[in-house]
Amino acid sequence: MTLDEREKKIYLSEKDMPRQWYNINPDLPKPLDPPLHPQTGKPLTPDDLSMLFPMELIMQEVSMDRFIDIPKELIEIYRMWRPTPLVRADRLEKYLDTPAKIYYKNESVSPAGSHKPNTAIAQAYYNKKEGTTRLTTETGAGQWGSALSFAGSLFDLDVTVYMVKVSYNQKPYRKTMIRMWGAEVFPSPTDRTDAGRAILAQDPDSPGSLGIAISEAVEDAVKSGGHTKYSLGSVLNHVLLHQTIVGLETKKQLEIAGDAPDILIGCVGGGSNFGGFTFPFVADKMKGSNVKIIAVEPDACPTLTKGPFAYDYGDTAKMAPIAKMYTLGHDFVPAGIHAGGLRYHGMAPQVSLLVNEKIIDAVSIPQTAAFTAGIIFAKTEGIIPAPETTHAIRTAIDEALKCKESGQGKTIVFNFSGHGHLDLGAYEAYLDGKIEDFAYPEEKIKESLKKLPQVG
Ligand SMILES: *Cc1c(COP(=O)(O)O)cnc(C)c1O
Repeated sequence: MTLDEREKKIYLSEKDMPRQWYNINPDLPKPLDPPLHPQTGKPLTPDDLSMLFPMELIMQEVSMDRFIDIPKELIEIYRMWRPTPLVRADRLEKYLDTPAKIYYKNESVSPAGSHKPNTAIAQAYYNKKEGTTRLTTETGAGQWGSALSFAGSLFDLDVTVYMVKVSYNQKPYRKTMIRMWGAEVFPSPTDRTDAGRAILAQDPDSPGSLGIAISEAVEDAVKSGGHTKYSLGSVLNHVLLHQTIVGLETKKQLEIAGDAPDILIGCVGGGSNFGGFTFPFVADKMKGSNVKIIAVEPDACPTLTKGPFAYDYGDTAKMAPIAKMYTLGHDFVPAGIHAGGLRYHGMAPQVSLLVNEKIIDAVSIPQTAAFTAGIIFAKTEGIIPAPETTHAIRTAIDEALKCKESGQGKTIVFNFSGHGHLDLGAYEAYLDGKIEDFAYPEEKIKESLKKLPQVG
C-alpha cells in the first residue's frame, strides 16, 4: 500500500468511543479465589471493604455483568484526551527490517502522560458521588499520584500521596505535577504512620516500596475514617475494568485498519495497563482465536515468571486484603530500578489467573535491554517512552526480529503506556553508562516467601 492509501495514525471519532467497560469476570476460565480479610483470614465482605472504597467500586469489583456503563460525566472527561490514537510504527519496522507489522496504542497523550487517568477519574467520580472529601494513595514513579491528583482537582477532592522514596528522589518533577493539581505528597516511608515508622526504625535509609507506601496510605485512610477513602492505581478488578477502554478502542481501530493481532504485548507492574489493553482480546482467545498475549516484567521484580501463585498480602504491613496472585512476598523490596511503576511484589488476581491457566504468557527482561529499546523507539518513532513502557517495546522488537528470522509477517500490537518526559534522569544515567542490571534476587525472594500467610 502507498502512504496515501494507508494511515499511520488510526483515529477513532469521539462518537465511536466505547460507552461501556468490559468486565472479564464472567468470561474467566474459572472463578477467582475470594480475597481474604488480612486479620481474620476469612473471605472479605463488601462491608469490610467499605472503610476503604465507595460501594459502587466494591460492586464493580465483584460484578458478573459483562459490560458496565460508563457514566456520561466520565465520557465527557475522557473526551479531553480520548479516543487515543493507534499508531503504525512503520519507521521502527523499517529500522528493524522486519516483515512484521507493529502498532502501538498511544496512552501517553493523557494529561498525566499515561493510561492511569482512565481509572483515576472513575475512582474520583464514584468517591465524590458517595460523599468522600479526601483520598489517600501510594505512588511508585509518580504516574499514579499525578493521575489521581489531576482527577481530584476535577472533582474537588483533597488528595494525599505517599510516594516511594527512591522515586521521589529520582523523579522530582512528578512531585511538582502532583502539587500543581493541588495534592500533597510525602516520600515514603514517612514518620506520619505506624507502618512508616516501623520500617524507618529497622532501616532509616529504606528506599521504600509500593508495598510500604500502600500500608501508609491505607493506614491514613482507616485512621482518618469517615469521609477519607483510599484509592489504588492498579491490581484490583475495578481498576482493570476501567482500563478496558484502551483495549476496546484498540479493537475498533484494528478493524478500521483491516488488521487482526497475532501478538499483543504490555508491560506489567500491578497489571492494569496490560489487563485493560488485552482483556477484550482474551475473550476472543477463549472463543478460539490464537492470538499470543505477552506480559513483560523486569528481571529485578519477576513476579509472574519467578513467584508462586499463592495467597499473599497486598501490602507490607498486612493491612490490605490478602489476594490469590503471583507474588514475590509482601516484604520483598526490589532493587531501585528506574521503571518504578513495575516494582510491585504482587500482580492483579485476574492477570495471575490467566497466566496460571496458560492463556497469557509472561517474560522478564533486564533494564539495560529495555532502555536500549527505548532509545531505538525515540530515534525511529520520535516519542520518548516511560521506562516502564520500554519493557513492552523491547519485547515487541524481539518478536519482530523473530519474524525477520522466520520470514513471517505477523501483526504485533503493544500498549504504549506512557511517555518518559519526566524520566529524563533515568535516560541521562543510561547515556552515561550508569544503568546496571540486577540479577534475579533469588535469596531475597526466598526469604520473603517464607512469610506468606498460611490461609486458603
Ligand atoms: C504505572 C505504570 C505502569 C505499570 O502499572 P500497571 O498497573 O501494571 O499498568 C506501566 N507504565 C506506565 C507508564 C505507568 O505509569
